[in-house]
Amino acid sequence: MPAPSTVLVTGGAGFIGSHTCVELLDHGYEVIVVDNYSTSSPLACLRIQRVAGRALGGVYAVDLRDRRALSTVFHEHPVDAVVHLAGKRSVDESVRAPIEYYDVNVGATTSLLNVMQGHGVHQLVFCSSCSIYGEAHNGPHPESDPARPANPAAASKWVCEQMLADVCRIRPEFTVLALRYFNPVGAHPSGLLGEDPRGEPANLMSRLARVAAGRHGRLRIFGGDYDTADGTGVRDYIHVMDLAEAHRSALAHLADRTGMRVFNLGSGTGTSVLELLDAFGEACGRSVPYEVVDRRPGDVTELVADASAAAREWGWRPTRDLAAMCRDAWRFQQFNPSGYTTGTP
Ligand code: UDP
Repeated sequence: MPAPSTVLVTGGAGFIGSHTCVELLDHGYEVIVVDNYSTSSPLACLRIQRVAGRALGGVYAVDLRDRRALSTVFHEHPVDAVVHLAGKRSVDESVRAPIEYYDVNVGATTSLLNVMQGHGVHQLVFCSSCSIYGEAHNGPHPESDPARPANPAAASKWVCEQMLADVCRIRPEFTVLALRYFNPVGAHPSGLLGEDPRGEPANLMSRLARVAAGRHGRLRIFGGDYDTADGTGVRDYIHVMDLAEAHRSALAHLADRTGMRVFNLGSGTGTSVLELLDAFGEACGRSVPYEVVDRRPGDVTELVADASAAAREWGWRPTRDLAAMCRDAWRFQQFNPSGYTTGTP
């Protein structure tokens, strides 16, 4: 099977999606974006084209659950492969709205599979999550570790993975790579692309950037009594540019083998909330005010990747360190004080 050349990216206007689109455009792919802009802005697509210096092949404001509208996109473009990033991933939001999380994360994926099958498209890169490992042992997780999802954001991704594995078993024409992301942070070094969530950001790096910029009061650290060196939660932060490169690697290796394969994408290094706070303070040249509050429901102590499989099979290794993640996230915040609407066009 030849390597894909026309790639449809669902959630292409989002944080990971926008950086992935630039990476694919930079490497000659024809890129089609489908996004319902529920958590992102259409302005991201203008930024993608500006950064890449090339036009997207198409941009569609479509909800993946709308099969008829999605089918039109496949009619209009000879799609070779799909990178499916659209979905919801906030832990605390998922605990408050579990049914919506299943509807969006699982419903969109079944709808997409239906439409792909109807159009003879069988190559898929699926965005999964490290959160499916849940509260297990501390230390790096290989892909073989059992799933113990601790919240609906994680559980809905796990349902999708199981469904995709089942489809691949029964329909050998499907090839799926599920990528379990650890914690994507950072931004494009140009300062033109970054994380610009609608409404209140839920994740740590976005909140840090807003607190440092004076848009929010103090950072609330959720829990100082975890069983970690400094009592705060430990995560494996990975630069979004490294993640974007991993998607290009995944597409290049999609046709290596049929069936479903799963890869962790992380740095392999654990960083606590307080350590990230310090690194961010270094990057922005000021100390970030904080207070320690209760644990957040659904959170786990530690999640760190064993990412050796992706290195072994594709030669993919993250190259950007924590300082670069903080520096780039801070640059995006400075260039875009209120996100894409007020930043450099
Ligand atoms: N966190 C925090 N304050 C915040 C947001 C997050 O202390 O305002 C902590 C959270 O408890 C976890 C880590 O930061 O230990 C990463 O959380 P994030 O939401 O960024 O990603 P998650 O790992 O939950 O997907």
